[in-house]
Amino acid sequence: MRLSTYFLPTLRETPAEAQIVSHRLMLRAGMVRQTSAGIYAWLPLGLAVLRRIERIVREEQNAAGVHELLMPTIQSADLWRESGRYDGYGKEMLRIRDRHDRDMLYGPTNEEMVTDIFKTYVKSYRDLPLGLYHIQWKFRDEIRPRFGGMRGREFLMKDAYSFDSDADAARRAYQKQFVAYLRTFDRLGLKAIPMRADTGPIGGDLSHEFIILAETGESAVFCDPAWYDLRLSPWDVDYGGDVATFFDYATKLYAATDEKHDPATCPVPADTLLSARGIEVGHIFFFGTKYSKPLGALVARPDGEQVPVEMGSYGIGVSRLVGAIIEASHDDAGIIWPDSVAPFHVGLINLKVGDGETAAVCDDLYARLEQAGASVLNDDRDERPGVKFADMDLIGLPWQLTVGPRGIKAGVVELKHRRSGEKHELSADSALAKILG
Ligand code: ATP
Ligand code: MG
Repeated sequence: MRLSTYFLPTLRETPAEAQIVSHRLMLRAGMVRQTSAGIYAWLPLGLAVLRRIERIVREEQNAAGVHELLMPTIQSADLWRESGRYDGYGKEMLRIRDRHDRDMLYGPTNEEMVTDIFKTYVKSYRDLPLGLYHIQWKFRDEIRPRFGGMRGREFLMKDAYSFDSDADAARRAYQKQFVAYLRTFDRLGLKAIPMRADTGPIGGDLSHEFIILAETGESAVFCDPAWYDLRLSPWDVDYGGDVATFFDYATKLYAATDEKHDPATCPVPADTLLSARGIEVGHIFFFGTKYSKPLGALVARPDGEQVPVEMGSYGIGVSRLVGAIIEASHDDAGIIWPDSVAPFHVGLINLKVGDGETAAVCDDLYARLEQAGASVLNDDRDERPGVKFADMDLIGLPWQLTVGPRGIKAGVVELKHRRSGEKHELSADSALAKILG
């Protein structure tokens, strides 16, 4: 991509309305534009990151054997009346009336709709287990939208739903999602802690929130600092085999992680316990027959008995993750994207636009990188070097490759690694080898 023809409206000034660093950096890096309170337009650079996150989330859901579908954003109020949530949801639900005076709503979540779809087609235990998910915009009329997309009103969520004929099978579905979440956050470069969450009237231990630690987080967290050093690899787990063993082990390790801290039951001594703040990036929940019963989603068991299907739901805040990743990975100069979600892999800085030789070297590097599968943002704007360096640091691409006439004469380009800050003068070939290596 040539920056001179791209749409990257970076800002020099720090926007006054942004209270936290991720929001400030997203505005300054030209990633999003607020269009109403808690509602954002995603500009090209922001959208590129959002899409990359979405893709990792999708790949890990598919790997866990869950099937993607796409449900609409606008739902009929009737389904929500059947489940009893239409009145209960309160002012967070955006209610809409269509031209025929039918009550509609902008979906804040999809349990009712997915249960309705399920019951239309699935009648027997033979068709279970089944997992369905989609990645779709949600609307919740939050009383205090803030922190950019972190607490928006319109936001992108991955929500998955599991259907099983008994509670044991449902527990296995839950455990698989637990592993899929650890894999997903690992690929996103985040250390996410599974924290036991309230299960409400259903009880049991089958609800976890996935939290990343950040000073600006809205949730209070108590955790055992030892978890930070744990080498707990979700990649060792085989979905067909030892999921339950891993789940038991992992949840024991994180047993001290909680929103409330009760010294009487906490396995970690009070003086080593870490009290911190965190951002909820995901939430998984087993709720049994809470929706299948009122909506009449029944399946036949082998003995012929018709029972309500056992369900769970599994959310990831895809758009919240953009801000959460920045909260976890930035410095004074700007964003530092993990490779896996960077909008481009390499930023190419042409120090002397208009110089034929410099342009030729840039074009050659650009072509070779793109051919090898590394996406490149070529800063070919007629701007001062200082502006280009500052913008590149701000938008946080993993590598910066600087090309100018002086270096060309000496047979070198400058390669900077954004995260470590290390800079080296290298031949073009060595620089490419390092980037692609
Ligand atoms: P919170 O406690 O932060 O309000 P929640 O518990 O209401 O979230 P869930 O219903 O569990 O949210 O939704 C699943 C995921 O969607 C959350 O873990 C979070 O990452 C994301 N999410 C929820 N509300 C918002 C919001 N207003 N803006 C952005 N992301 C959100
Ligand atoms: Mg939640």
